[in-house]
Amino acid sequence: MKKIALLGSTGSIGRQVVECVKRYPDRYEIVSLSANENAKLLGEQINMFKPEVAGLVNAEKAGEIGVLPAQTTLFLGEQAAVHAVIDQADLVFVAIVGFAGLKCVLEAIRLKKNVAIANKETLVAGGELVTRLAKENGVKLIPVDSEHSAIWQSLYLDQSTPFENIIITASGGAFRDVPKENLPFMKAKDALKHPNWNMGKKITVDCATMVNKGLEVIEARWLFDCPYEKIKVAYHPESIVHSMVEYADGAIMAQMGFPSMELPISLAMSYPERLAGAPKLDIFGKTLHFEKLDLERYPCFSLVLEAAKKGNNYPCAVSSANEEAVKLFLQDKIGFTEIYDYLRYALDKIPEMQVTYENLCSTDKIARSLVLERFSRK
Ligand code: NDP
Repeated sequence: MKKIALLGSTGSIGRQVVECVKRYPDRYEIVSLSANENAKLLGEQINMFKPEVAGLVNAEKAGEIGVLPAQTTLFLGEQAAVHAVIDQADLVFVAIVGFAGLKCVLEAIRLKKNVAIANKETLVAGGELVTRLAKENGVKLIPVDSEHSAIWQSLYLDQSTPFENIIITASGGAFRDVPKENLPFMKAKDALKHPNWNMGKKITVDCATMVNKGLEVIEARWLFDCPYEKIKVAYHPESIVHSMVEYADGAIMAQMGFPSMELPISLAMSYPERLAGAPKLDIFGKTLHFEKLDLERYPCFSLVLEAAKKGNNYPCAVSSANEEAVKLFLQDKIGFTEIYDYLRYALDKIPEMQVTYENLCSTDKIARSLVLERFSRK
């Protein structure tokens, strides 16, 4: 029985982890759960799994959890998700969105627990720190993001397999066919209609701006210890090939599958085994296209890469500024193409710092406040 600490259990990824656990009750047990503010769903999950620990960040919502089972200890407040990283777990599944995941990943590493990492912002902000500490503590960082799962699968589930290049595929997001001159008028409700994937709100907007692909390049740099020059991005509108690895002899290994997170989630949990359950792809009648990215359409992609190449705290700054700008966009307070302007502003103003946990926390705060300060002058 694999014991799982599930952080971010109420989100798009978290709920799919729950479904996977329900599919294989003889293999998986949930020992802890955490959420930000969806106390009602967290309460239902607590009653279903009766975990040892549960965490809810927004303490004001605690009343909505309902009656707790006798064996469950509930933590509330800022550190609630960190408390849900417990020693009884064999695997810590981090399905939290945003910078808030970093402290949980660091806690899992401190406890020497393998981490299934969906939370890309953690690797973007603190990849250097997280991968070094994981190595020192003998902890595996198991990719969950579909592209990184595909790369991992194309490396025979062994991150140390030598390779030449990584090719990450990109669907192009909700606005891939919208004429460029119409992009400034696109609203949150339009951005949330992704053509191929059904995901949480933040990542769906990030797909439309292509910030997501920039974050994934950084994620790949750390997960596979790969210099940026060896990471390429291909526009692939069908979302059938989830990413590829090119070897020295010219062979390109690709992982194909139905565009759903169920397979990467299932594999991260069952590794090194593969279990049935995810939807299967019918390859007949399918056509695949691969093209270069239209960088003019996706200026945020180049901006994130610029931050990546600057290194130090810049990736963290751009990622945290993006979290805040996307929140404003989702509330229809700023326009779609303005997201770029906010990221540019934050990146230009942020003071450079080395990557330590404390500096990343300061960077996160400063980057968010820069976005809000610019917005206050709007
Ligand atoms: P969602 O917004 O759907 O869910 C996020 C989860 O994190 C929720 O459980 C939420 O709780 C919790 N949460 C939010 N803020 C905090 C916080 N400050 N502290 C603790 N918990 C918090 O996101 P997704 O499931 O879409 O994405 C999760 C991560 O996985 C992201 O990093 C995303 O980029 C990555 N990812 C997602 C994919 C997808 O298909 N969705 C695909 C690949 C990667 P509550 O519900 O209470 O707000």
